[in-house]
Amino acid sequence: MRSSAEDVLEYLIVKILAGKDNIVNALADYFIYGESPSVIALKYGLSKHQVRGYAQRIVEKIGSATKAKALLKYAIPVITKIRPVTKKLNGSFVKCVLCGDELPIQIIEDHIRKKHAVVVEEYLYSTIDLIRRSIAMESN
Ligand SMILES: [Zn+2]
Repeated sequence: MRSSAEDVLEYLIVKILAGKDNIVNALADYFIYGESPSVIALKYGLSKHQVRGYAQRIVEKIGSATKAKALLKYAIPVITKIRPVTKKLNGSFVKCVLCGDELPIQIIEDHIRKKHAVVVEEYLYSTIDLIRRSIAMESN
């Protein structure tokens, strides 16, 4: 069974792979820096409602905003270095560079999670490893 922290990491990794780094950065500003949803919305081209919605998803997965903050503090520097596996095409379509499929942007995360589960898993484990190392370095 996967832990709730792993669920959050996987959620963020899939967003990055899908090219939605603005959402991950918005969540970092919300949880780590305590920015208001309206400021974040303007900065990342989202609506206040979307910012609250994404934050709510994280809290539901991990249990509290405090836990989310603790995890994201370590996870964000690692996860934001992951390169996307999508290329924007015209309009609302993206190309998955892993398999060449061209898909509507609405379903790209689902596509990555299902068709490229192995890639997501590899990033998940390397992310967990790097987080463990940075925590170990801090406590030395
Ligand atoms: Zn693909």
